[in-house]
Amino acid sequence: MQDFADLVFEGMTVCGRVIGARQGFVYLRGEYRYLVDALKATLQSRREAGLLGEAILGDPSFSFDIDLHIGAGAYVCGEESALIESLEGKHGVPRIRPPFPTTHGYLNKPTVVNNVETFASAAKIAVQGGEWFASRGTAESKGTKLLSLSGDCERPGIYEYPFGVTVRQVLEDCGARDAQGIQMAGPAGHMISAKLFDRRICFEDLATGGSFMVFDHRRDILDGIRNFAHFFVHESCGFCTPCRVGTSLLRDLVDKVHTGHGTRADLEEMRKLGQIMRVGSHCGLGQTAPNPVLDSLDQFPEAYERRLRSTAFEPAFDMNAALEQARWLTGRTDPAAYLDEEALVGAMP
Ligand code: SF4
Repeated sequence: MQDFADLVFEGMTVCGRVIGARQGFVYLRGEYRYLVDALKATLQSRREAGLLGEAILGDPSFSFDIDLHIGAGAYVCGEESALIESLEGKHGVPRIRPPFPTTHGYLNKPTVVNNVETFASAAKIAVQGGEWFASRGTAESKGTKLLSLSGDCERPGIYEYPFGVTVRQVLEDCGARDAQGIQMAGPAGHMISAKLFDRRICFEDLATGGSFMVFDHRRDILDGIRNFAHFFVHESCGFCTPCRVGTSLLRDLVDKVHTGHGTRADLEEMRKLGQIMRVGSHCGLGQTAPNPVLDSLDQFPEAYERRLRSTAFEPAFDMNAALEQARWLTGRTDPAAYLDEEALVGAMP
């Protein structure tokens, strides 16, 4: 959107022509407010060139315009029906589907929701043709993929590859010499270890939304996982219980292990909780929120194992300390007011 906004607007206009729409919106997440002036200027120059507005290129049967809508920065508004709710001025809570936006979308009208990469590709295909686009990529994944490379690499940035490129090739190109793992497709994507670096980026192998976060060997993988776990607690919209409660419980378990208080039973609990969230959550956010934890448990077990205590179970809080206020209020100091002898001895002056 910084360098090729005109191409995205062109693709939206092509889409408007194909489906018979008169209005398009760019939903700009709050963090990208700095793009507003440049985007407005690009839209205005398209209007002046007769490429947006009434009677595009003099054709009275085709009028189409594009507005900018600025969101407040909620991650869940990347989900198409939550995005539409937000566009209508409501809370960004995902809708129950069906019906799908293709028949009941913005203001209950049929609506196409796509990302900028798709619209930019559509504009190119409209000019150069489907065969040109399909001449790159693999048998089942045609064309190219944008990857946003960040983290421990010498040359972060946006890269474009034909589908089918290996993870190893991408790492080499961006100067990631010492990668131990990659978080692909954002916090809700998948974490992969070096064992999988020869996999190919395409729908039939490793599919990705495009983000590619490199962790080298100086990093503690669990630090990253902990960040993701906290992120999802913040971003859960709270509508459904498996996600609202599950993200908090998962965060607490990751914190517990991270601070050296975890046991094997906690790891098992994480797996169970993750599965419940996957199948029970209402939208993609809750269904994918446990991915970093579940993947790292499989791919980087040592990140967890080295922090475990040897006991099979350790409570997450100190029950005896929790009773202290009750003892004080009731004035009790007798042995029955303590959970066990050890606690009683510890409390004696
Ligand atoms: S899964 Fe999470 S983000 Fe999605 S509706 Fe439920 S609470 Fe909201």
